[in-house]
Amino acid sequence: MTGVWVSIVKCILKVKVAGTNLVSLSKGEVGNGMDIRFWLDPWACNDTLKERIPTLAALNTRNCRFGSLLCGMCDQHEESIGHLLLECEVAMEIWQKIGDWCKEQPLFFFSTTDLFKAHNVEGLGIKEKSVLKGIVFITCWCIWKARNDLRFANITINVDRIFNDIRSIGFLWYRNRGKHRSIMWNDWCGFNLR
Ligand SMILES: [Zn+2]
Repeated sequence: MTGVWVSIVKCILKVKVAGTNLVSLSKGEVGNGMDIRFWLDPWACNDTLKERIPTLAALNTRNCRFGSLLCGMCDQHEESIGHLLLECEVAMEIWQKIGDWCKEQPLFFFSTTDLFKAHNVEGLGIKEKSVLKGIVFITCWCIWKARNDLRFANITINVDRIFNDIRSIGFLWYRNRGKHRSIMWNDWCGFNLR
């Protein structure tokens, strides 16, 4: 584990909840026999993180019903986590932009598990792969945030704005948390990492 992940882990180790260390509240179930898969193995509650994201479809299975289950971003398909992050036309446009930006082949995913393999591609250096991995996480977060902004604040979906948010948050993360102070915005926008 290197770079920003070391910083993140250091911060988590210091966090306390009601006087109890946060880490002691989490648990690890070794799902694949090697390590804990952030998305697919339970590590904080009894459910996996994938199951806990409160999409309309996930809430419906818990008997929480709020009318239509259609995705608000496209109004065409049921809002599951797979649809929201991978299959929705909004998400697909964003992933295309991410692929273009990171000089990657167009990014297509068949399952949420594929999100965590997106950075393992031919032609990218170790640093670029590591950064692309972080960008994938940021992209998931920004799509989820845009979904919530639409649902709860009626803020219209705008793919270019979401993409710009991803680049801006990624720049701050890489420059400050990753301690790459010399990176300039233009280099970042060209995915020219130094
Ligand atoms: Zn949709």
